Amino acid sequence: MRVLKWTPFFDVKEESPIVPIWISFLNLRLHFFNPKVLHALGAIFGRPLQTDQATATRTRPLVARVLVEVDISKNHAKEIWVGSKAYGYLQKVEFEKVSDFCHHCKMHGHVVSECFKLHHDLKKQPYASLDKGKKLRKIAVLMNKICFLILMLL
Ligand SMILES: [Zn+2]
Repeated sequence: MRVLKWTPFFDVKEESPIVPIWISFLNLRLHFFNPKVLHALGAIFGRPLQTDQATATRTRPLVARVLVEVDISKNHAKEIWVGSKAYGYLQKVEFEKVSDFCHHCKMHGHVVSECFKLHHDLKKQPYASLDKGKKLRKIAVLMNKICFLILMLL
């Protein structure tokens, strides 16, 4: 079971792309470890919900983590400018465990290239019964998944 955010446009046939995700700010300067700044940093990407305990108590200065409700159907910046124009710096942003989201059928768990509703031929068939083109396509989908997993692990 998945718990999804309710909105006035809630539709049981479509899943909301808005999900809580931990966002990490690696090597954030220590003077920015205060609730107002962390809330503002989280608000760049969505609705900030909370920080983790280590961030709140500043016991892990290497990284600040903020839980944010993020629309994963949109692309988000990997770096943001923090501080004033003259004395600011580019801050790296890392999203933790962004699940796949299909822009076609608005469901979690797969991407458009793996969508059964869009690609009816991708429905589970014995591999041996597929023609060469479909076999190659299935392999390409698998390779995509493996590359994605490797990227997630890095
Ligand atoms: Zn789909």
